[in-house]
Amino acid sequence: MKKTLRLILGDQLNERHSWFSEVNKDVVYVMMEMRQETDYVTHHIQKVTAFFSAMRAFSTEIKSKGHDFIYLKINEDGNEQSLIKNIKKIISEFSFEHFEYLLPDEYRLDEQLKQLCEEISISTQAVDTEHFLTKRNDIAEFFKGKKQFLMENFYRKMRRDHDILMNGKDPVGEKWNFDHDNRNKYKGEVPIPPAYSYKKDVSEVVEDIAKAGIKTIGTIDESNFHWPMDRRQALQFARYFCRELLPYFGTYQDAMHTEEKFLFHSRISFALNSKLISPKELVEKVIEAWEEDQDKINIAQVEGYIRQVIGWREFMRGIYWAKMPDYAGLNYFGHDRKLPNFYWTAKTKMKCMEKSIKQSLSESYAHHIQRLMVTGNFALLNMTDPAEVDKWYLGIYIDAIEWVEITNTRGMSQFADGGIVGSKPYLSSANYMHKMSNYCPNCHYDHKKKTGDKACPFNSLYWNFYNTHRDKLEKNQRVAMMYRTWDKKSNEEKNELLTQADYYLNHVDDL
Ligand code: FAD
Repeated sequence: MKKTLRLILGDQLNERHSWFSEVNKDVVYVMMEMRQETDYVTHHIQKVTAFFSAMRAFSTEIKSKGHDFIYLKINEDGNEQSLIKNIKKIISEFSFEHFEYLLPDEYRLDEQLKQLCEEISISTQAVDTEHFLTKRNDIAEFFKGKKQFLMENFYRKMRRDHDILMNGKDPVGEKWNFDHDNRNKYKGEVPIPPAYSYKKDVSEVVEDIAKAGIKTIGTIDESNFHWPMDRRQALQFARYFCRELLPYFGTYQDAMHTEEKFLFHSRISFALNSKLISPKELVEKVIEAWEEDQDKINIAQVEGYIRQVIGWREFMRGIYWAKMPDYAGLNYFGHDRKLPNFYWTAKTKMKCMEKSIKQSLSESYAHHIQRLMVTGNFALLNMTDPAEVDKWYLGIYIDAIEWVEITNTRGMSQFADGGIVGSKPYLSSANYMHKMSNYCPNCHYDHKKKTGDKACPFNSLYWNFYNTHRDKLEKNQRVAMMYRTWDKKSNEEKNELLTQADYYLNHVDDL
């Protein structure tokens, strides 16, 4: 075999990859911590720490199995801080004759690696990461010729193709979707098990980040850094989820609570996205837990969870590869407003926003409904430039990697893709917030008031949004109802709502 260099990126920590099935003295693996990855947006300190720590643990594990490994730390002498420069330098220094890399999940890195392969004179090969259930282009093939990509159709195909929760040709429980049984508000009916965590000393990595002068947001200390850093810990996280949280996952999937940051969510996204654990083994564990104890875990919980992992997650990846690079510039509504300052400080009187942002800054985590119906919803009502929204989401969350961030943010949350991911914008007034959370009773604003002193901003901004974008939304059957309701309002009421919204938009940083 030719003397081969194999590149592993920081989100490709798949110990079970066939690359590692045997030790080959002609193969050297390389991983590197680089400023090009820490600086493309301002990341949360926990995100940078988690990636560097998990990468270091991964290299130690692979080395312990006898593989040859080059690992470049962030402050190492000779680290060029750029993927292309580092690889070129290593190839020439050690006279490698062949270069291989695992297919990246980000378009940006895919382009860089293609460019590198054109520029070097040795043979090259790109290899699958053996992580996802689908290939990059499966979704594009599946929806070929279709204007809209329906997640539900894709999800059913995934269930059939992989024989997951199937009784022959029929779905287990005789329904594909149990959403109707889920979506409860959490009122403390069942206790929430403590957040699973480990004591981890990441001080060396945190010091390295500080020494390098990397700009970060958010906070890190022993009490708020919970993330699994290696495969063993990721598997323990998954087991804990199946045993303790899955029984109520679906029921409270959409609930929000001032005192409960994680509710029954699995917090497995970092482990999944860095590939410490695979979606296939996660789903197998969930099904195993359900089969072992169907009295404790019902099908609605299991189906609800599996849809997220084999449905939404793979669907978003497929859309990303079908639509990039254009997707990153889509702005259907032409929004151009700035993201309000309180997204960076949590200093706002809106309780739902304050709680969701504060938690994001301290934990590098918010659950799906907080991201979609609180911070995402407000950014949309504020008519924020989607590029600003992307930057915030990409930086702040532990699990944010562009393929899954941008499709959720620009697509699902901001409808900037004009309806590729979702069939209508996810918008709500204070009604939804009050229905699904306990934020409103503790808020400075009155969720019942639409105008006047202390009227909840979500209410007037909601109607203002529909009014402003009538030309783009009126013909959408899924929102036509809103226009019928709006048209029934008196001119006086409409004017009051629009004046209130205008005031709030002009004073958004004071809300
Ligand atoms: P759980 O609620 O326990 O769900 C289990 C798993 O399902 C998640 O870990 C995740 O892998 C998968 N999943 C659930 N919903 C989605 C979804 N819509 N898209 C893709 N996978 C999903 N997820 C990311 O992994 N990275 C992101 O950068 C990201 N950005 C988001 C931005 C916005 C505006 C929104 C609305 C959602 C975003 N999501 C993102 C999806 C989802 O919010 C997170 O995956 C989830 O909150 C992670 O927490 P968890 O592991 O506790 O998830």
